[in-house]
Amino acid sequence: MPTSREYARLRSRMVDEQLVKRGISESRLLDALRMMPRHQFVPEEHKPHAYEDRPLPIGDGQTISQPYIVAFMTENLRLKPHHRVLEIGTGSGYQTAILCHLADYVYSVERISRLAEVAGARIGDLGYSNLDIHVGDGSQGLPDQAPFDRIMVTAAVPRLPDVLCAQLSQFGGQLILPIGDAPAQELKLIARTADRFTTRGLLGCRFVPLIGRYGFDSKTDSTSFVS
Ligand code: SAH
Repeated sequence: MPTSREYARLRSRMVDEQLVKRGISESRLLDALRMMPRHQFVPEEHKPHAYEDRPLPIGDGQTISQPYIVAFMTENLRLKPHHRVLEIGTGSGYQTAILCHLADYVYSVERISRLAEVAGARIGDLGYSNLDIHVGDGSQGLPDQAPFDRIMVTAAVPRLPDVLCAQLSQFGGQLILPIGDAPAQELKLIARTADRFTTRGLLGCRFVPLIGRYGFDSKTDSTSFVS
């Protein structure tokens, strides 16, 4: 197993080669990515690969997203330190921890309770307390905590759920999510001003499916999707 010094070196190389070279430039985000110990968010056997340019399995048929996708989605949300954020699909908690670093408060919803528990403990151990992890169907958002300045969905939805748009702040709320069926989707950014919504397509991508009322049904074959 690499030592923590070696992990730090791999992490710094990941940021320079995979992220900065591909155009990620926001300095607060790069600082967060340079310090966040991604290897602590993956199972023991995958730790030596934690800083490679790819998603990795985290158990329960789910994956931690590729570093570039985490950076790209976060940069496109243009987070401010005062923002309240909703994340749907906690998974490993790595993206959640990056959001905690950049925003005021993060609500994250995960449907698999084991993943939610492990992620919550990891993020707490890193010293963040500005988050609330819920177990349940995040395709419905979290109406009791709405509105949100930003919403990020880290699993694919078949179509844009109106219920999530309705939970965006009327004052410049923004939502980023992958829309489409297996095997590939498109990342879209939805921006709200009052009751006007604009949608922009950003990037082709591959995510695991969001399983729920406004996502895919539970019989969906997840293996045809890849995060
Ligand atoms: N950002 C995470 C991505 C994990 S993969 C990471 O990088 O680690 C997507 C996650 O969405 C999985 O953990 C899966 O269990 C979860 N998920 C799927 N459907 C969901 C739903 N309806 N509500 C909440 N989480 C869901």
